[in-house]
Amino acid sequence: MSSRRRFIKNTTLYSAFGGFIAAGEASYAAGSLSKHTNEPIVISTWNHGLPANAAAWEILNNGGKAIDAVEAGVKVPEADPNVRSVGYGGYPDRDGNVTLDACIMDENQQCGSVACLEHIKHPISVARLVMDKTPHVMLVGEGALEFAMNQGFKKENLLTPESLKGWRSIRKELETKKAIVNIENERQTIISEDNHDTIGMLALDVAGNLSGSCTTSGAANKLHGRVGDSPIIGAGLFVDNEIGAACATGLGEEVIKQAGSAMVVELMRNGRDPESACKEIVQRIIKTNGAKKDLQVGFLALRKDGAYGAFSILKGFNFAVFDAKNGNKLIDSPFS
Ligand code: ASP
Repeated sequence: MSSRRRFIKNTTLYSAFGGFIAAGEASYAAGSLSKHTNEPIVISTWNHGLPANAAAWEILNNGGKAIDAVEAGVKVPEADPNVRSVGYGGYPDRDGNVTLDACIMDENQQCGSVACLEHIKHPISVARLVMDKTPHVMLVGEGALEFAMNQGFKKENLLTPESLKGWRSIRKELETKKAIVNIENERQTIISEDNHDTIGMLALDVAGNLSGSCTTSGAANKLHGRVGDSPIIGAGLFVDNEIGAACATGLGEEVIKQAGSAMVVELMRNGRDPESACKEIVQRIIKTNGAKKDLQVGFLALRKDGAYGAFSILKGFNFAVFDAKNGNKLIDSPFS
């Protein structure tokens, strides 16, 4: 298709989208997984999204706001020590510290974020208070902890015996392989299929407003002080209430380099359906990295009309969807 024709096609779709916002009509590109105009819906990454969605749905189904739903939803895996990649019991960094990243964004593009936060079980709620109570967007490290404690959060030990055991075995394996020679070698090892899994959650409420949240302990065995994409607005999460919302999981460094979630939303603004918007950014990551066996990144997107989609580099990414019609379901993401 010539670039001019493509432009005309996108303009037409964009106009249709503008019409939906103004007049309450929906008309979108083919290929979306669903169309639930003006019905509440919540979607989130990985199978720990199922119980998280259930908590979020309680709020959405009672006419509550999407921003409250996405905070309450992700608090479930944050508190669960068996979810090893989020909150309490999360994977430690290479020095054995559990450092957490989280962010939240509402329908007015208000947002809050914390990064490299230690000792606090619910970083998402600290991020919410950064949004609600400060003139800032992001607090990090000691400052974020001080803020949390001033807001009444309790300092806790987040390193469970299980996460300590996992950390010891990763360190032992790396030392055996003599992999700890320099940071270049460490980079090969920070993300693999089983050492990460952020929860990103996107919701649309009965008033038609979108919000999102994202929370993680980040890549296991990261350098102390490393911050991934998850607390970075535009990378791990982005919400534009006129268009849609997106979140990411996988190797955060690659998501940051692409401004991943903001780009997914921007592609939807230009008429791409959620799945194809996610796929485009995945393909850009593949293009810049070539074929790396272990590189996993997945995006999840929710459009203003409730249509959703996902795409990942590798097989294995899945996401949970809860709406009134179908209940709470786990769906395998398409992959490259
Ligand atoms: N994106 C997260 C990070 O890089 C990890 C993940 O999603 O699993 O910190």
